[in-house]
Amino acid sequence: MTTLPNWEHSYQDLGSLYTSTAAAEKASKPEWMAWNEGLATSLKWPAAWSKTDEALQAFSGHSELAGTKPSASVYAGHQFGQYNPQLGDGRAVLLGEWVVENGSRYDIQLKGAGPTPYSRGGDGLSPVGPVVREYLLSEAMHCLGVPSTRALAAIATGDSVYRNEREPGAVMVRVADSHLRFGSIQYFAMTRDGEGLSELVGYAANRHYKAMVEAKGATTIGQQAEVLLEETVKRIASLVAHWQSLGFIHGVMNTDNMLLSGQTIDYGPCAFVDTYKADAKFSAIDSQGRYRLSNQPGIAHWNTSVLASCLLKVLNSEEDKAIAFAQAVIDEFPRWYAEAYKARMAAKLGLDAFREEDTALVDNFLQTLETDALDLTLAYRWLTHEALEDSHHTPMHQLFKPSDALLSWRTQWARRRASNKASSKELNARMVSANPVVIPRNHQVAAAIADAEVGDYQTLHQAFERWQSPFSWETRDTEWAATPSLSEQVTRTFCGT
Ligand code: AMP
Ligand code: MG
Repeated sequence: MTTLPNWEHSYQDLGSLYTSTAAAEKASKPEWMAWNEGLATSLKWPAAWSKTDEALQAFSGHSELAGTKPSASVYAGHQFGQYNPQLGDGRAVLLGEWVVENGSRYDIQLKGAGPTPYSRGGDGLSPVGPVVREYLLSEAMHCLGVPSTRALAAIATGDSVYRNEREPGAVMVRVADSHLRFGSIQYFAMTRDGEGLSELVGYAANRHYKAMVEAKGATTIGQQAEVLLEETVKRIASLVAHWQSLGFIHGVMNTDNMLLSGQTIDYGPCAFVDTYKADAKFSAIDSQGRYRLSNQPGIAHWNTSVLASCLLKVLNSEEDKAIAFAQAVIDEFPRWYAEAYKARMAAKLGLDAFREEDTALVDNFLQTLETDALDLTLAYRWLTHEALEDSHHTPMHQLFKPSDALLSWRTQWARRRASNKASSKELNARMVSANPVVIPRNHQVAAAIADAEVGDYQTLHQAFERWQSPFSWETRDTEWAATPSLSEQVTRTFCGT
């Protein structure tokens, strides 16, 4: 294999303060579980490195992909509110940055490929279950339009991983705009008196927000820190609004699991809500419900305030000015979040704009779903069909029975829609693309995991395929779109680390 010019190492080249050399462990009997041809194509990934034996060897630690520099990055983070001064890639190896002709730059990481200098006693490995979950969920999120890290491949290692019991091991190839976390900034702000923080801030601002850096003529690190903070906070506000609109519960919103790029990362104990509950939580490790659905905007706000406080040292040499800027950005979070959320809700309900009185309309809708134990995703799609006045060609009537209270809410909603200024054709089209038919339901993910654990990857492939086009109906949707029956319901999720 020849070395292609695509690999670059701008982050690793910042030096040993940021990353340490790490090698992937050799898998004893590697086997492809999944290869994401669509993503490979969009990355212009060369055929010789796609689903070939050579790639399998490289991704499973037997040979190094030419041009890569395997390493692990250091970071810190607040885990469930407690500061941990040093975390880092404990079970992930960064191969380098894959640069596509148009200049787009992506981190390529092997997740679960063995211990690194930051494993802190962990084995650096991943069981098949968490790899299947992340592979499916991160790609489904992308297809739903939610900014997310991506999954290029999943490989069974043939080795055992020991958690509560012996489990089959796997490696995932993760693709991200970068893996720079709030926790990366925290580490450099809080360690060695801030050594390395300025370089990291300049690097992150230019990597993720270059257009804004240029537009603002931000040449000093202080100015670039301002751009980094403001743009990151905006993206996170918009990201979490998107999660809320879909009923996605991340489950472990620690500051090391929040990316400066604003992509969703860490598909540990995450879940989509089926039957709507404002306070839904699934994660088995979240006993207090810190990361429950209704808490996500508040937690994101808190996390951004942690980021802001870690940037104070570089925002301005005059402390009061640094504090004033940081405070002003953090105080904008609720407004940025509310604007993003209202725009999503207007699209989902077929409203031309979100008016003040629409808050009550949305609240009543969600309250009705909760009281009558209705499925969130199906309820929105049912509304879409009501708006289209066409449910003959879909199995909607088999999948969803509106309650009496929802039917009477529909009258209130119809009255509001009658006062729309935009054309209903346009608003209906927007509803169709805002309200998915299918989401990765917990019981479906669990089934894909159970099959993959015994070496059968068919369910994984079928689920992956189905979640590629979540906004349109397909043939087997009486199964894919259905809310789980009582016996199918999965009420707890585990991060499986
Ligand atoms: P997470 O809860 O997945 O965000 O992980 C928190 C921290 O623990 C990160 O620094 C991970 O790299 C590390 N970690 C998680 N699982 C393992 C493992 N099996 N071996 C080593 N480190 C791990
Ligand atoms: Mg993590």
